[in-house]
Amino acid sequence: MGHRREQPQFPKPYDFVPFTEQQDQQRPFGHQAFHLQDTLSGRVVVTIELQTLLHISSGSYALSEDLGLKAGFVIKDMYKVLRNGIAVPAIPGSTLKGGVRTLVEAVTNSCLIAVPGKLRRKLPRSQGRSCGGNQLCPACALFGAMGQLARVSFSDALFVSGDSEIFRLPSLYRTRAEDSYQYVDANDRLKGRKFYLHGIPQRHREGGYAEAIKAGSVLRGNIDFTNLTPAELGLLCFGLGLDNSFQLALGGGKPLAMGRVKITAQELQLQQTASFLEYETGNAVLAGNVLTTAVADYITQADPLLQDVQLEAVRRILDPNNQRPAPTGTY
Ligand SMILES: [Zn+2]
Repeated sequence: MGHRREQPQFPKPYDFVPFTEQQDQQRPFGHQAFHLQDTLSGRVVVTIELQTLLHISSGSYALSEDLGLKAGFVIKDMYKVLRNGIAVPAIPGSTLKGGVRTLVEAVTNSCLIAVPGKLRRKLPRSQGRSCGGNQLCPACALFGAMGQLARVSFSDALFVSGDSEIFRLPSLYRTRAEDSYQYVDANDRLKGRKFYLHGIPQRHREGGYAEAIKAGSVLRGNIDFTNLTPAELGLLCFGLGLDNSFQLALGGGKPLAMGRVKITAQELQLQQTASFLEYETGNAVLAGNVLTTAVADYITQADPLLQDVQLEAVRRILDPNNQRPAPTGTY
């Protein structure tokens, strides 16, 4: 009574994908029923088209005058790689891999690789078994685990076209005691995996300055894969959002609806000898309509791995058509 509590101005810009009922764990690849010669190895060449501003921090700062701007302020640098002596904006392979893995973990009966120790006891009973040795969930089998090499490897995606800009990155989140209850259900168990909702980014008048790549810019990268089953290649394609039913968010400012990307397969290079389907015979480079058909086909083969409830939640939370304005104040 009479106790004034600061109310958040904006609804929480995130939601939860519920955990699956179980974790599936299999023996590592090579111990299973299928044979190496029936697997697929090769490369997916992807283009990444920024739908909203993307900021991936380099971890360092630049002086505004060094960037040819009005002197006197400090700017959070964005990630770049040197190509022929030129610093090119890029998305680190690890960033893209992390985004795809989290998505794949959420929609399959996989373990949680990144749970802070103090939260582990709040996991539902179906979760929390970790992978390694002879036990691998679908995500660990693909992306690696303790003692298990990944069978997919992501290159840095390099800037191809577009522009960069300096923007302000406010810190809108304030820790409040009641916030911890956002994450757990009535039984004090974690609600699920947290994903930020997409929306329309807003201009901010406060916060530190940071350099970012503008919406509409295009980057390109490669994903190499080794000895995947067709279903696993489908899972990788799905995780990238190649079925167009959702879009991933990468980098900083996700609460501000930043970093939404549309990923498109440009080319699929297959170096294998199996002949599951006609287009897979021999070494092949798939592009255009043949590639579109092949990707859809692989994703269909991943269907038994995908969990309906989680799939629906991912598509709702990561709906690229969400017109919600991103928060401009604390949430
Ligand atoms: Zn696992």
